[in-house]
Amino acid sequence: MQTGSIRRMFMAILLAIAIMSTNLLPSTVRASDDPIADFIDRAYELILDRKAEDAGFQYWYQNITAGSLTAADIVDQFFHTDEFTGRGINDEGQVEILYHVMFDREPDDGGKQYWLKYLDAGVSISGIINGFTQSPEFAEVCARYNMVPGTIPPVEGRDLNWNVTEFVSRAYDLLLERRPDVGGLNYWTKEIASGNIAANSLVNELVRSPEFSAKGLDDASVLALLYKAMFDRQIDDGGCQYWLGILDYGVSMSCIISMIGACPEFAEVCARYGMTTGSVKLEEPRDQNYQLTGYISRAIFGLTGRKATVDECNVYTDAILKGTKSIAVSLSEFASWAETSAHLPANEDFLKAAFDICYGAQDDAKMQTFLSSLNGGKTRSKVMMDITNDPAYKAKLTGLGLKDPMVEPKKMIALTFDDGPYSPVTNRILDVLEKYNAHATFFVVGNRVNSYSSCVKRAVSLGCEIGNHTWDHTSLTTLSGSEVASQISRCNNAVFNLTGVMPSVMRPVGGAYNATVSNNVGMPMIIWSVDTNDWKYRDSQHVINAILNNVKDGDIVLMHDLYASTAAAMETVIPELIARGYTLVTVSELAEYKNQQLKNGQAYTSIR
Ligand code: ZN
Repeated sequence: MQTGSIRRMFMAILLAIAIMSTNLLPSTVRASDDPIADFIDRAYELILDRKAEDAGFQYWYQNITAGSLTAADIVDQFFHTDEFTGRGINDEGQVEILYHVMFDREPDDGGKQYWLKYLDAGVSISGIINGFTQSPEFAEVCARYNMVPGTIPPVEGRDLNWNVTEFVSRAYDLLLERRPDVGGLNYWTKEIASGNIAANSLVNELVRSPEFSAKGLDDASVLALLYKAMFDRQIDDGGCQYWLGILDYGVSMSCIISMIGACPEFAEVCARYGMTTGSVKLEEPRDQNYQLTGYISRAIFGLTGRKATVDECNVYTDAILKGTKSIAVSLSEFASWAETSAHLPANEDFLKAAFDICYGAQDDAKMQTFLSSLNGGKTRSKVMMDITNDPAYKAKLTGLGLKDPMVEPKKMIALTFDDGPYSPVTNRILDVLEKYNAHATFFVVGNRVNSYSSCVKRAVSLGCEIGNHTWDHTSLTTLSGSEVASQISRCNNAVFNLTGVMPSVMRPVGGAYNATVSNNVGMPMIIWSVDTNDWKYRDSQHVINAILNNVKDGDIVLMHDLYASTAAAMETVIPELIARGYTLVTVSELAEYKNQQLKNGQAYTSIR
């Protein structure tokens, strides 16, 4: 750095110090044709309505000529003096003054309305002054007066994004019928403008406030306000009916605000205001899954004839979402309520309601079965569990986009029985399965199916699976490809003709297969991971130990429904496995729950 430039810098610093200490300097003589002096005089006259006093004039003149204060500063600082506020000039008057000082002219109507709109929405006067500084008109005026225009950088949240400020203010106006306090306006504008908080969250907070609740508005009126606040328009009849319908599911208004917030129309409004859309934090369990809450509340209505309470919606939705209670168990609880008996004293009426809830349809044949169970003394709660133990129930839930958490078990076992059917044993096993709402797979020998047809049909009606165990129990490894195919198709046809259900899994005799079998069987081959050797020992305790000492999640257990000892063992094994948290499923269900697509010709010993 050269000596000369160092000296120049030193002189500049001295000058700056001198200017800052204006009281040490002699008064400047005011030149009659000095444009800067004219601007200062005009500011005093227009804003403070008086002539400048000498000290004040000196302060401004010297700071402006030194470049440490600007035209924007003098206007902003004058507007914040007690002297100016004491004049009590309304918003319109203030905007008119700004036109005169900063644009040196009378305001036009359109322009005046523009500034007034934002001033009215809560943008500060400093924000408005800064708005004026952004205009080329102000730059021209300043050039004429030899002034540096300057800006007033926004400090307060409410000045950061005027459109957001307007949205926040309007929401307060509509929902609380008052202006936001400056703190609230600063907070919301800043957070929404910076994208930290979604605009719909503001609406949600206001609607949830005690102040809003105290207004005691009905749902339709609240929805009309939400449309004005969020869609910036009147609600239409269709929209109103739609949201009232969702509210009827038992969800809160927060859930509706969240859903309105997800509409493209709200995204358009947000784009117009420069805001982001986002999700509203939903705190109540009933709002976490409105379809589920709707299902629960309509079930309660169907059985008791009254609307579900908010508590009921929260408690049941919460338990189901947490997986501590299934939808089916919830339904069976509603079925056992005294209110349900009082509302539907006749068993037929109870069943109609239950079918409507579980299947969305009536089924006379099924209803007769359940009716005889009820008339035979089975409880409504138990019958409701039976009604949910049906593919129609699962289909109904799927149609609603729901899953029953306990229909989607975590730990599963597939019990399988070969070489039947044999009604004395098969039926005894089915009795236990029915009692515990459990499923199993029966790998039947095709040529026995018609001799024991009723127990095969019963197994299907209980949700059990019929698998293929060849036509006549021939070992497949001794056969040609076409003979293998024939063994399979004859058995499949026998099952299909009897039950209307085509088997989708098979078990080779003795678990034995070779390449010819794999290539011609045309079905997944289900082997086993737990062998009970029930055919060898014919002893219940042996079967019980073989299973209970060995099973784990995803196991496939081999048994035969030919031996009374095996059926007897099931009376111990099935409740014990359920007590240990296992769900007893068919082989196909096991594959489905474990997300495995079973392949034809491939052997499976377990599915995990
Ligand atoms: Zn066999």
